[in-house]
Amino acid sequence: MITKPIPYGHQCITEEDIQAVIETLKSDYLTQGPKITEFERAFADYVGAKYAVAVNNATAGLHLGAVALGVKPGSKVIVTPLTFASSANCVRFCGGDVVFCDVDKDTYLLDLDKVEALLRKSPKGTYQGIIPVDFGGYPVNLEKLRHLADEYGLWIMEDACHAPGGYFMDTKGQKQLCGNGNYAEVAVFSFHPVKHIATGEGGMVTTNDKALYDKLCLYRTHGITKNPALLHQNDGGWYYEMIDLGYNYRLTDFQAALGVSQLKRASSGLDRRQQIAARYNEAFAQVSGIRTPFVAPDVYHAYHLYIIQVKDRLGLYNYLRENKIYAQVHYIPLHLMPYYSQFGYRKGDYPVVEEYYEHCLSLPMFPTLTDEEQAYVIEKVIEFVSK
Ligand SMILES: *Cc1c(COP(=O)(O)O)cnc(C)c1O
Repeated sequence: MITKPIPYGHQCITEEDIQAVIETLKSDYLTQGPKITEFERAFADYVGAKYAVAVNNATAGLHLGAVALGVKPGSKVIVTPLTFASSANCVRFCGGDVVFCDVDKDTYLLDLDKVEALLRKSPKGTYQGIIPVDFGGYPVNLEKLRHLADEYGLWIMEDACHAPGGYFMDTKGQKQLCGNGNYAEVAVFSFHPVKHIATGEGGMVTTNDKALYDKLCLYRTHGITKNPALLHQNDGGWYYEMIDLGYNYRLTDFQAALGVSQLKRASSGLDRRQQIAARYNEAFAQVSGIRTPFVAPDVYHAYHLYIIQVKDRLGLYNYLRENKIYAQVHYIPLHLMPYYSQFGYRKGDYPVVEEYYEHCLSLPMFPTLTDEEQAYVIEKVIEFVSK
């Protein structure tokens, strides 16, 4: 019997998580204490990056990344339209121009052929950077994108909010974890409750570049430094200088404690997501009218989302709601947002993502979804599409 509504995503908080937060609340530090560095170190190790900077949410992390990468008025940055608003907004925060590009019809990631065609149309130097998204948990092949970026002098900021633990295989047969910093200058993760790791609000920026790391730390804390090498003078132990305009984008220590505790279950959570995806795939394989997610053999999908394509998406969405299953739509393409229309974007500009949007639906996908709940979701989906 299904007694409570089934959301599309849900955090998992254990007794151990709660104890970890309580311990930190009883400690000397609520913020800027030892849990932050512990979380940063553990997270950097988890995704295989050299440096990690904890922030109060991924939107702030994307903003910090854009600032550190030097986005300013006039900068042109290529962004996928199939993402949450912050992936593009971070460019706007710095006064830069967002240039959208269509997605691939199978992976729904930025279509590299179209990116290249866009780059070819203008003189080199026109574009400063590109922000790909590991959409739904599908890892972007950053090795390929790096070649293109190098040819045209772009930096890459990977929005890896959907994909901690996901990876693609490079041409040497090596695993390349999302956010490991081998191909992208900066990567950003979110710890919003629907994401893989929850800290309430929270995020992490990873990089392998020491200079970028220093900038990220500086701008996270007001542009203030106590680093003797950077000071113009030194009046004593209390002395600090604000050397640039920064922000307060810090995470609290009790959130970091929750993050450290959650991170211990990240791998098992991924395994469970894989299992759930496999079961959906199997159940829908023989059902006409449902397109299941495409996954190439050389990627390990992190399954933040499990997205199907159906003809009557609105009908299915409403039918599931009537049955207390809260499926969701990810995402309304960004170029169709009223805010972005002021830059001249119109319906029809990016046909692949628009077609995707007409038919997509994200089914419940989170590690604590029970087999019974999933069976019920499958039953209701098939019931509707078979009508
Ligand atoms: C969730 C999300 C964000 C924003 O994360 P917050 O931590 O809520 O600011 C950015 N990009 C993508 C792709 C996301 O899914």
